Amino acid sequence: MTSQRTRERLIQRLVDQGIGDQQVLDVIRTTPRHLFLEEAMAHRAYEDVALPIGFQQTLTQPYIVARMTELLLAGGPLQRVLEIGTGSGYQTAVLAQLVGEVYSVERIKPLQVLARKRMRALKLRNVHMTHADGNLGWPERGPFDGILAAAAPERIPPELLRQLAPGGRLVIPVGGENQQLQLVVNSAEGLLTEAVESVRFVPLRSGTVRS
Ligand code: SAH
Repeated sequence: MTSQRTRERLIQRLVDQGIGDQQVLDVIRTTPRHLFLEEAMAHRAYEDVALPIGFQQTLTQPYIVARMTELLLAGGPLQRVLEIGTGSGYQTAVLAQLVGEVYSVERIKPLQVLARKRMRALKLRNVHMTHADGNLGWPERGPFDGILAAAAPERIPPELLRQLAPGGRLVIPVGGENQQLQLVVNSAEGLLTEAVESVRFVPLRSGTVRS
């Protein structure tokens, strides 16, 4: 359906924008992003843009997926990773191929149902999903070596910081109109925060939606 050339063009674009982690590039090259979109949108899957997935939510731009994944992995291999905002499941699928186990939280039930089907179709068996409010993390399954959020809170939810294992890394967009992608490392000296770059994510909301 999508030519190899279109996919290679996307990878080249990510390299040009500074993505240097070869593992991350390889996984993005082979993950079928078109399967995470409705048919009417699928022909745009290998463009480096965010795309609508319904419920006023978006499939994250490939460059941002690559950048966040790279930041998460930069401290070494990760066993347990928590994702806030499953959405289409594309970022989940990328993570599942790079870490031990992925725990993914989504507040909109129908999005989660679709994402779960995609994980099954792609035979990604190390993904665990729950329908819940990601502000609370997933305390029963923590602590986590890595936490990645795909929706922006005004301030980092304290529960997420509490569920970071020693040495654990949190990658999260923070802010309202002007958001910054932040990296927080739970180091021996305490929490170290670094602002990475400006981003634009959907807001992290509270509560859950059933249908
Ligand atoms: N990486 C996903 C991004 C989806 S958009 C993708 O590429 O498809 C962000 C997602 O975060 C949406 O699905 C939204 O419903 C979800 N979200 C927002 N607030 C949340 C919360 N408090 N808990 C869990 N998920 C949340």
